Amino acid sequence: MKDPSDKRTLGDHVLSPESLMMSYGYRPEWSEGAVKPPIFQTSTFAFRTAEEGKAFFEIAYGLRERRNDETLGLIYSRLNNPSLEILEDRLTLWDDAEAAASFESGMASIATTAFTFLRPGDVLAFSEPIYGGTEYLFHVILPEFGIETVPFPAVEGRAGLEAALSEGDRRERLAMIYVETPANPTNRLVDIGMCAEVARECTTEDRRVLVAVDNTFLGPLWQHPLKHGADLVLYSLTKFVGGHSDLIAGAVLGSDDLITRLKATRTFFGSMAGPWTGWLLLRSLETLKLRMTSQMKNARYVADYLLDHPKVDRVYYLGHLGENDPDFETYRRQCLSPGSMISFEVRGGEAEAFRLLNHLQLTKLAVSLGGTESLAEHPASMTHSDVPPADQARMGITPALVRLSVGVENPQDLIADLSQALEHV
Ligand SMILES: *Cc1c(COP(=O)(O)O)cnc(C)c1O
Repeated sequence: MKDPSDKRTLGDHVLSPESLMMSYGYRPEWSEGAVKPPIFQTSTFAFRTAEEGKAFFEIAYGLRERRNDETLGLIYSRLNNPSLEILEDRLTLWDDAEAAASFESGMASIATTAFTFLRPGDVLAFSEPIYGGTEYLFHVILPEFGIETVPFPAVEGRAGLEAALSEGDRRERLAMIYVETPANPTNRLVDIGMCAEVARECTTEDRRVLVAVDNTFLGPLWQHPLKHGADLVLYSLTKFVGGHSDLIAGAVLGSDDLITRLKATRTFFGSMAGPWTGWLLLRSLETLKLRMTSQMKNARYVADYLLDHPKVDRVYYLGHLGENDPDFETYRRQCLSPGSMISFEVRGGEAEAFRLLNHLQLTKLAVSLGGTESLAEHPASMTHSDVPPADQARMGITPALVRLSVGVENPQDLIADLSQALEHV
């Protein structure tokens, strides 16, 4: 359904993604003049002729090459659906990607990526700390399929990655470097360009090493991994892109060639998003820049307030990185803003952190992030509770650590809420 006449320019003037979120990939004449795309709540699509149905299947199943003027026709909603295709077309704009695939969750996008591009005997190197669900998939499930998964510490840069790959013939078997940056919950950065360099060095004629980046925390507004040499960008759309904490979804972006392979797996895993989710995400995308900009500004006020508070020992916030910080150069090169995730240590331990969390009134005590409402949680006992205590300590996940996802509320109200809650510490 992708419309080749879809324009991203006015004459020589290149339009910004935020201007295209209300129109790109959809034309009102397709749907009775409706300005907004309807929800295509259908499982199957009628072919005009048997010949057309045959041609659609030939393309979908790769039975022959697609002609230049041919697009993949609509067949059945496990393969494609306009509510997802419009979403995917719009998602490509922020990261300037050739193609995108949407999924029913962030985890579905990560798992489908793993099972598309990894095979028994392959090595997957991944940065730590990493999202808990990803950690379980990599540590427990993938090894059961003969995939060797090798963590490397986000804080150690190239030396950490090289050390992890130096054992045995790991370099020769390396198939993917998977990174999450900034790392959750301490906002440590992984240099994507460095990972791309290592991947290129390990690539041979018959083995292309891919770099995949989970861009949930800063993307798609504030970090564009493809520009730094990544091959695949992954999202939990549940977070900033959905942005209202009312849906679960995921996406992967990259070259046409890689996304076509990924969509083939998606068809047989059945891990695509549904039309209703796609439609909700189209609404969300229209305000994505507004929301993420407001959240970013609010976070600066909140982080500065926390930094000066006598009951706060330490604040992890990208906007506070000093020139002497080892992450500063990577930040300058790779990130367009500090985003809106803050972690901080309350003076004391778990009891003090819990007292703070139990007294917040405006900010809600919940995991997840990126929504319009501010959320606070306790990584050591919640999102990262399955990380062994020694590893938690190594990653800076102390009992006193609280993670904040800053929403679009008035920043003075958020500060007033933190202020009264900190009085109970
Ligand atoms: C939430 C999250 C995921 C998983 O996404 P779901 O939509 O919950 O499946 C993956 N990576 C990161 C960084 C996340 O925050």
